Amino acid sequence: MTFDLLKECGNARRIGISGHVRPDGDCVGACLGLWQYLTKCLPEAGVQVFLEKPADIYREIKGFGEIVTDFPEEEPFDVFFLLDSVPDRMGEALSYYRAAGKKINIDHHVSNKGCGDVNYIRPEIGSTSELIYDMIAPDMLDQDMAKAIYTGIIHDTGVFQYENTTPATMEKGARLIGSGFDFSRLIRETFYQKTYVQAQIMGRTLMESIRFLDGACIVSAIDRKTMEFYHAEPKDLDGIVNQLRNIEGVECAIFMYQTNLLEYKVSLRSGDKVNVAEVASYFGGGGHVRAAGCTMSGTFHDCVNNISLHIEKQLKRWEAEHDKRDDSDF
Ligand code: AMP
Ligand code: MN
Repeated sequence: MTFDLLKECGNARRIGISGHVRPDGDCVGACLGLWQYLTKCLPEAGVQVFLEKPADIYREIKGFGEIVTDFPEEEPFDVFFLLDSVPDRMGEALSYYRAAGKKINIDHHVSNKGCGDVNYIRPEIGSTSELIYDMIAPDMLDQDMAKAIYTGIIHDTGVFQYENTTPATMEKGARLIGSGFDFSRLIRETFYQKTYVQAQIMGRTLMESIRFLDGACIVSAIDRKTMEFYHAEPKDLDGIVNQLRNIEGVECAIFMYQTNLLEYKVSLRSGDKVNVAEVASYFGGGGHVRAAGCTMSGTFHDCVNNISLHIEKQLKRWEAEHDKRDDSDF
């Protein structure tokens, strides 16, 4: 085990767990996997998970129905875990974290430098759920825990596709599916399946996308009026930016949805040439080298103009470095 969860909890009576706003599969899987483990190992303690209401696709993970989504006033927690996030992205759960006796921050975002009294930040690991797996005593792992953690791993590795997948990730995946849950259905229903409306929005967004920088960059945006027309929520937009990145020749995909009159949530995905964590960090966001996000102010065109300067600079830097390398081959 890499990190002694139970020792860190000591004799805490009240333990809280949270992640980031608009919780994704990794965030939900890590929070519920940890919740199940602590509930099982520390039956005397009260353990609660606080998150914005996650997408319904995660409803079959044990503990989903216990997630507190309305953030009531609470006495300070003895220990509070912040998973897969920095405090800035916690939303309403931030006040619990601030007031807690002991703050534990477990994350894999390269942009997170550690924001707790105790920090376990591993950017080289593909998902926070994989970090939680490493912390769980193997003899305590049961099928429900395995399902939670597996969900997190598949969502952040694109079902073991992205380069954050290592041989160790696959070995852990093997042990997790060995517990016997229907992993095929889980992947289909939580990762690939879309509602009709989600598919329509995705189709429309792809249709309206614009390529620039000789096709190396692609951008598409969805405004509030369109979101309202489809009764869509941000969680209905998952997967669109990956689809943009999948287009041949694209080195960097940008997907934006409007959050306010002059404000967009921006998602960035890249191939080999652009470090999008660096781009997003410049605008106050963060994430990983190949997947990152930020919130930007301005019109659609302002945002695209500002962000594309950074992408172009990185593309040029990459080309220059590779030209140099090619020259030295002779
Ligand atoms: P998204 O584009 O929202 O799917 O996010 C891609 C990755 O970047 C995820 O790992 C997020 O956790 C991270 N990320 C997105 N937005 C932010 C932000 N504003 N600050 C820090 N990290 C972010
Ligand atoms: Mn994650």
